[in-house]
Amino acid sequence: MQLNSCYLDELKALVQKYGHKSFRGNQLYTFFHSSKRTDIENSNIPKDLTEELIKNEKIAHVEILKDYSSKIDETKKLLYVLDDENIIEGSLMKYKYGNSLCISTQVGCRMGCVFCASTKAGLVRNLTAAEMLSQIYTTENKYSIKVSNVILMGSGEPLDNYENVVRFLKIIHSGEGKNLSYRNITLSTCGVAENIYKFADEKIPVTLALSLHNTDNESRSELMPINRKYSIEETLTACKYYTEKTNTRLTVEYTLIKGVNDFEKNLQDLKRLLKGINSHVNLIPLNPIEEYVKARPKNNEIEHFRKKLEDIGLNVTIRRELGADIDASCGQLRRSFKEGNSDKIHSTNQQGIS
Ligand code: SAH
Repeated sequence: MQLNSCYLDELKALVQKYGHKSFRGNQLYTFFHSSKRTDIENSNIPKDLTEELIKNEKIAHVEILKDYSSKIDETKKLLYVLDDENIIEGSLMKYKYGNSLCISTQVGCRMGCVFCASTKAGLVRNLTAAEMLSQIYTTENKYSIKVSNVILMGSGEPLDNYENVVRFLKIIHSGEGKNLSYRNITLSTCGVAENIYKFADEKIPVTLALSLHNTDNESRSELMPINRKYSIEETLTACKYYTEKTNTRLTVEYTLIKGVNDFEKNLQDLKRLLKGINSHVNLIPLNPIEEYVKARPKNNEIEHFRKKLEDIGLNVTIRRELGADIDASCGQLRRSFKEGNSDKIHSTNQQGIS
């Protein structure tokens, strides 16, 4: 286990194994998660212990490889590089209430949603807890900012990397670490129902977001293969269980695709499906990718759909589009970069945002 993926208790036990007092574990933990550093040779931990740790243990590093600033808003799209040279992406969005960072949970993804760029080359590997944490820490360090909201909505399916994601959540929330409230974290899932139940029983009250995107099983299965395993009804029952166990509200993500899921029938289905679930619908305009060149509805059509949903009694918001000029949708930037097309995107290397 990488040292910066360890819980405090695990670090305390580890340093004791090396013959040191357990408080050295506390020092290491705060060095990683409060000072947000990884260069333990420069910490106040005894030299013999750091030498042993460096020799025998691993520490994960994540660095910002490139950043791209939107010219239309203050969004930054980030490419991070991992120790094994894999590249992942994230986006930093500035809102009135603070900085929100969208991070990745896997290199690639194996869920196969037809409209999503992240999954086109399959899953490469899971990220460790330290690699998820470090996306936040390196971003905070580089731009001298505080990230106040974290969104697990970059590449990857968080509930397909369950153990590492739960570990990440517990560490980022810990008092000796960043102490981030669970309320300020959103976990977006395509609906791995079995793990939604498991997650509910951990009683970690983040905002769960379900990528629904269609309202009947046949059509949803065409968009999202996971639906062949867990039907819409099974998935929503799991989500309801989560909201009740954690006393939270479900976000239902609905990417509007013209002529696919924007019919009157979809409105009525949504009403029926969401009945009795503490939820709100977040409409996302489709960001077309090469393999899925369906049209996004026009802004007035999206607004019309929103109004109709509201009229039938649902809570609805439209996702504000940020960074539309910098491939800010799931997996698109990493792919452009790997294909050597990212230079068409404006890049600013050192510019801070605050
Ligand atoms: N695997 C998780 C999180 C990553 S995707 C999930 O499925 O929820 C984050 C969100 O972006 C999901 O709602 C996903 O369906 C949506 N998304 C992916 N590609 C998109 C695209 N090209 N246009 C609009 N939304 C997209």
